[in-house]
Amino acid sequence: MRIEADVAIVGAGFAGSLMALALRQRGHRVVLVERGRHPRFAIGESSTPLANLLIEELADKYDLAQIRPFSKWGSWQRSRPDVAGGLKRGFSFYFHRPGEAFEDDDHHGQQLMVAASPHDEIGDTHWYRPDFDLNLVREAESAGAIYLDDTAIDRPVFDVARITLSGIRRGDPIEIDTGFLVDASGPRGFLVRALNLHAPPLRWLPPTQGIYTHFENVARWDSRDVGAPFHDCPYPPDDAALHHVFPGGWIWVLRFNNGITSAGAALVMGPPQGGHYRSFSEGGSRASLWDDLLKSLPSVNDQFANARPVHPWVHSAPLAFRSTKVCGTNWALLPSAAGVIDPLLSTGFPLTLLGIHRLLDVLDTTPAGAGREAALRDYERVTLAELDATERLVAALYASMDDVPLFKRLTLLYFAAATFSEAARRLGRPELAPGFLLHAHPDFGRDLHTCCERALAKPRGRARDELCTDIDRAIEPFDVAGLLDRSRADWYPARGEDLLASSWKLQSTASDVTELLARCGFTHRAERPAVRL
Ligand SMILES: Cc1cc2nc3c(=O)[nH]c(=O)nc-3n(C[C@H](O)[C@H](O)[C@H](O)COP(=O)(O)OP(=O)(O)OC[C@H]3O[C@@H](n4cnc5c(N)ncnc54)[C@H](O)[C@@H]3O)c2cc1C
Repeated sequence: MRIEADVAIVGAGFAGSLMALALRQRGHRVVLVERGRHPRFAIGESSTPLANLLIEELADKYDLAQIRPFSKWGSWQRSRPDVAGGLKRGFSFYFHRPGEAFEDDDHHGQQLMVAASPHDEIGDTHWYRPDFDLNLVREAESAGAIYLDDTAIDRPVFDVARITLSGIRRGDPIEIDTGFLVDASGPRGFLVRALNLHAPPLRWLPPTQGIYTHFENVARWDSRDVGAPFHDCPYPPDDAALHHVFPGGWIWVLRFNNGITSAGAALVMGPPQGGHYRSFSEGGSRASLWDDLLKSLPSVNDQFANARPVHPWVHSAPLAFRSTKVCGTNWALLPSAAGVIDPLLSTGFPLTLLGIHRLLDVLDTTPAGAGREAALRDYERVTLAELDATERLVAALYASMDDVPLFKRLTLLYFAAATFSEAARRLGRPELAPGFLLHAHPDFGRDLHTCCERALAKPRGRARDELCTDIDRAIEPFDVAGLLDRSRADWYPARGEDLLASSWKLQSTASDVTELLARCGFTHRAERPAVRL
């Protein structure tokens, strides 16, 4: 089989299929190559407001009405109940001391809840990737992309203006002749291997490992009496990305509406911190690493008492990865192929979607030649800068996992940047929020950088207190969500009043914000009580 294409995309995860769909809408001949076959297990499931906004923008810009419902829980459930997913109302964090049952007081010293939505209808989602990715690849095929699954391709051969990919599909040779190659094959993927791209260890984050699978019968954390009262909290804690944090790592728990729960741990490698779990490198099996870890976290152990894995364990070590090269004359890695930092704060989807937008712009607006090469260099620069900003923040969080108040303060940098960026974009003022995590903002970007560097030095005493004060100071001009209101005791609901009171920070009027809240369904009445007990 010989195929001629304008763009070949390697990897049919959600990113490759979205790229294919948008390119087809612009009339490009697209071939999408996948080594596996859908439906298949994939990790990376928890979405965010920014990721959802980027999906909406993609849908609107490329006339992809079929993907827009996936940007909100309510529209997804109404239009595509056949695609499994989970409700994500926010980020829930519980901080554990190894060997002790989880306990908390009325001030929520050992927890943090940040709502992303005021009610379920416009809630975010967890994507059950076997269904979600299958649906997208079908859409890409319906839109006219040539989809080749079960396909193993060899090294690409680069000619002056074309690239040839040869491979085998179900025993038959295939050859693809393409003008541009997009690598959407995930970390340590196709081009990184084929071109032997340099990927040195990360700079700020210590080496980490990931261990994860899908389970059934995971108890709801909010169904248990674990010492913290759950009434009055901003949303049911399990309808969220649930984080159990402890020195040296953390566990995620993401519930889908089909009885499956995704859970796993990201752990610092090397000698276990505090000696409370064995390192996988010490020769334990994947299941025994997980069991050891849970034994050290009695309340989490209770949550998983009846849980049963329904997919083989996946062990990823090292977990993080970053290529130093992202593109060439006629090829580019998507951000998810260029790097993965950590699941903490669910940064993978927005980074990938931002990259998809940027790369589509390049392919759409610059013909092959010098102009496109310059645009690709810019794509590379921004992609790497965003990965670096993410790594610095995540590394600062890892360095603070034994200091709960500082860890919480650092996460507020993320929440301030995320809420401000989303509001600015939705108000049609994206220029107010440059760069992922506002890293390219002259004030916030500088403060984010220095606060993270200072946290990495593990400050104690006065230096640490000064850091907390400086984080608050950095957040203040961008806080549109009441994040500095200490009376909330680390439970932050999503309130329209906060955005209204901060409209001036977004260089907008109160009526602009009122109109925005109505347009986004923020003021839609909740159909069920905010908290289910
Ligand atoms: C443990 C973990 C948890 C994460 N959790 C989150 C999260 O909660 N939220 C979030 O936003 N991000 C998360 N991420 C990041 C997230 O996984 C990625 O951003 C996302 O999966 C990227 O999607 P993708 O389609 O680009 O790549 P993938 O989902 O990795 O898909 C790549 C596809 O390419 C195919 N492929 C690979 N090699 C080849 C080849 N040589 N030829 C052909 N096909 C190939 C694969 O089979 C696969 O189908 C997480 C990452 C990890 C490691």
